[in-house]
Amino acid sequence: MKIQKSFDAEGGALYLVPTPIGNLSDMTHRAVEVLKNADCVYAEDTRVTKVLLSHFHVSAPLFSYHVFNEGAKAEEIIKHLQAGKKIALVSDAGLPGISDPGYLVAREALDAGFPVISLPGANAALTALIASGLPCERFFFCGFLSAKPAQRRKELAELVDYPETLIFYEAPHRIRATLKDMFAVFQDRKAVVARELTKRHEEYLRGTLKELASLDHDYKGEIVIMVEGAEKTALQKDLEKLSLSEHFQHYLESGLPEKEAMKRTAKDRGISKSDVYRELMKEKR
Ligand code: SAM
Repeated sequence: MKIQKSFDAEGGALYLVPTPIGNLSDMTHRAVEVLKNADCVYAEDTRVTKVLLSHFHVSAPLFSYHVFNEGAKAEEIIKHLQAGKKIALVSDAGLPGISDPGYLVAREALDAGFPVISLPGANAALTALIASGLPCERFFFCGFLSAKPAQRRKELAELVDYPETLIFYEAPHRIRATLKDMFAVFQDRKAVVARELTKRHEEYLRGTLKELASLDHDYKGEIVIMVEGAEKTALQKDLEKLSLSEHFQHYLESGLPEKEAMKRTAKDRGISKSDVYRELMKEKR
């Protein structure tokens, strides 16, 4: 158990800094401040970040941190932290660590006892989700699917029962094949393709998977796909009409052990197992 008080961070600290996903005006003041005050900045592609840093007059030394040198660079970053330095990590766009390098060094910095401070900012998935018109209270971020068709279909099949809105990143040259696979697996659910967010050619295509998969459209640029979650089954709908203890009883009578019945009841009702337990205890009294 460790408690991190970020604002008291003295000495070495790792800052995870968001950068715009297309529109430079989405760079936050705090992100610029942190980059200006950093002893060095590590970036996924130093050529991309050099342009950003020069736009915001940041002169901190710039080094690379990408998927192919992550291990060695994480070690280097830990040494800087041990020397008391403030290190900023950015990716090419959006939040580091989200379908981008960042996780490894964050984990290693924490393991080594240093604070990891994340700044809020641009992110393609959440930006797309909140304007999609699909439920955004609960969602499941799936990132990139496999580029291999058979594996991609397998990954989609594993998501078929998820009731939450599903969010995917996809490359433009694969979008048609992916939408066709999604239609085959998820059938004709509502879906939204968000393209070129925050840029001049930003667009949202809202429809059904059938419509989107058969649309003859110029899908250039960067893309987020969102798919409505699975409809509740008739059984789940019936179970919701029951009181919590009747719901739990249904699973016990169907032969499940108590622990499993509690787990299933909690999952169906979207609450925690301890909430189920508490409610059952209340009803018993
Ligand atoms: N770290 C980033 C984030 O926080 O969103 C994601 C990086 S990932 C390597 C790049 C993918 O994010 C793109 O292929 C696309 O699916 C999505 N993406 C990034 N920028 C986007 C934009 N402006 N519009 C739509 N999708 C975008």
